[in-house]
Amino acid sequence: MPLTEFQLIGRYFSPRARSAVLGVGDDAAILRPRRGRDLVVTTDMLVAGRHFAAEADPRLLGHKALAVNLSDVAAMGATPRWATLSVALPRVDARWIGAFSRGFLRLARRHGVELVGGDTTRGPLAICVQIVGDVPTGKALRRDGARIGDDVWVSGTLGDAAAVLAARRGRLPLTRPERTALARRLDAPQPRIALGERLRGIAHSAIDISDGLLADLGHICERSGVAAIIELGCVPCRRALARRLDHAAARAAVLAGGDDYELCFTAASSRRPALSSLGRRLRLRLTRIGCIVRARPGTACVQVIGPGGAPLNPGRTGYDHFG
Ligand code: ADP
Ligand code: MG
Repeated sequence: MPLTEFQLIGRYFSPRARSAVLGVGDDAAILRPRRGRDLVVTTDMLVAGRHFAAEADPRLLGHKALAVNLSDVAAMGATPRWATLSVALPRVDARWIGAFSRGFLRLARRHGVELVGGDTTRGPLAICVQIVGDVPTGKALRRDGARIGDDVWVSGTLGDAAAVLAARRGRLPLTRPERTALARRLDAPQPRIALGERLRGIAHSAIDISDGLLADLGHICERSGVAAIIELGCVPCRRALARRLDHAAARAAVLAGGDDYELCFTAASSRRPALSSLGRRLRLRLTRIGCIVRARPGTACVQVIGPGGAPLNPGRTGYDHFG
């Protein structure tokens, strides 16, 4: 007998509420904000055929659906607390749903996030997650705080996920071991929550890199009314990509590929020692890739300096769902 909607929710999507006043099971959840904190709310939708393949591994999909939302919370310097999960499923496939729920709830547990509600319906496969986080009042990291003279930093390495996709489409020659190593970064991104929280009081602005470095740093520049100059040679990437940077597809993956889920942030140059020690403490590579300058009409808000100091025309700047 196939499960009913309520059995399905009860079995796979009803962890016991701990920090929520009321979790799954009523018409709505009840959440109580902590004193002295602002609430931070974000949502992201993943649609089969657009953001993932319908045959994708459900456990990894559960992980990724939550991870991409946690990445937005990280970029705000916030602590994630509660999540809702809405899913449209073409059919009730207990194995699929069980694996999806395990991937989702495992990552939720790791970050202390409680699933407090959602919606479950039949339809073309789509997943929508919402997260509520919190941050000390007035201390959230925003896109509009970059200042002229700031350094531009990124965490981790860029281009890994996009490189795998390019390789699968035959646009970038990668060896099989290289592909396997990079595929983890596409399938199971690790949201930089601890970094975001510790950047409060250090960074002037932050964003997570989901659409590609140039596009996302461009958002910081637009919102802050400034421009940025970055050096291609400084942008951190794995060896598989670093040694192919003269290849257009590799360069595009690093600068404009997207799906990185690393943080890009700006900070005063006086913060370099603090950021080096933070990177060591978190065991996370933090790399200075350029600086914030005055915006000039008629020039791109993010300029890339190539080998030898010549400006580079990177072409496409990022992923655009309507492009
Ligand atoms: P209503 O019809 O009042 O909207 P539902 O029948 O949709 O209620 O949901 C019943 C309960 O189960 C609600 O608390 C809802 O938040 C929760 N819920 C439904 N689907 C999910 C899901 N996929 N994950 C977590 N909670 C869910
Ligand atoms: Mg409902």
